[in-house]
Amino acid sequence: MMTGDSISESESTAVGRVYLVGSGPGDPELMTVKAKRLLESADVILHDKLPGPEILNQLPDEACEDVGKRAGGERTTQEYTNQRMVELAREGKTVARLKGGDPFVFGRGGEEAEYLAAHGVPFEVVPGVSSAVAGPAVAGIPLTHRDHASSVSFVTGHEDPTKDDSAVDWAALAATGGTIVVLMGVGKLPEYTGALLDAGMAPGTPVALVERATWPTQQIACGTLDTAVDARDRAGIEPPAITVVGAVAATRERVREFLANGSTGQNREDDR
Ligand code: SAH
Repeated sequence: MMTGDSISESESTAVGRVYLVGSGPGDPELMTVKAKRLLESADVILHDKLPGPEILNQLPDEACEDVGKRAGGERTTQEYTNQRMVELAREGKTVARLKGGDPFVFGRGGEEAEYLAAHGVPFEVVPGVSSAVAGPAVAGIPLTHRDHASSVSFVTGHEDPTKDDSAVDWAALAATGGTIVVLMGVGKLPEYTGALLDAGMAPGTPVALVERATWPTQQIACGTLDTAVDARDRAGIEPPAITVVGAVAATRERVREFLANGSTGQNREDDR
């Protein structure tokens, strides 16, 4: 078992291999063939809750280690996960580090790759369908559109836009005129929609929130920049959810009558 001491960088006895595997947004049919094969054959699967219940329920119990919430509710630290990957690899194990969506779209996959490299552990990145792309898609929202958006930005909504040292420049994003896709952006929705309005974006700019995209409990709420918080609250949108801001979000209204979206189960929504 791990001692908690940090693992020396010079030690390089790794014989195992780590796969940083993207699970896709949650529908098991949207997982790649490669991810499925690796999950079936890995000695250990280090996962959190983001892949969603349908995928987690399919994993072989005996291989699984939850590195998300732990007993008692406290979160496993990133340092623990990093060290555990290295420790298992040095025991010769094949490790699947299963991450929601794509492993390199937020979610600290880049840090995990750097840690593995610094500790001499061979690894492979297995791309996944990011919720940033899948969430809008299943809601009938194209991220780009010849008439409405020529660019798309993926941003974290976790930062407080009112802080001086915020890493996201909302005014610059507003100025692109393209689609803005916000991850981790349920709680701070009032702050960043406010920042976009302050930057001069039209109050009527369409906004959609897609919660638990492709899970059986998917929910969608639609509004505009000045009604989005209301729409969120009426529908009871909670994390994990994607926020789409931009003219493309109105496409949903034009296609939804014929949008079967069958694989995602029920679709409770309150966006009328
Ligand atoms: N690597 C992930 C993102 C990790 S950051 C990916 O590529 O999808 C965590 C954020 O991802 C959540 O706060 C939420 O904004 C988003 N997210 C992940 N899965 C989601 C899902 N099924 N539906 C909606 N949003 C999701």
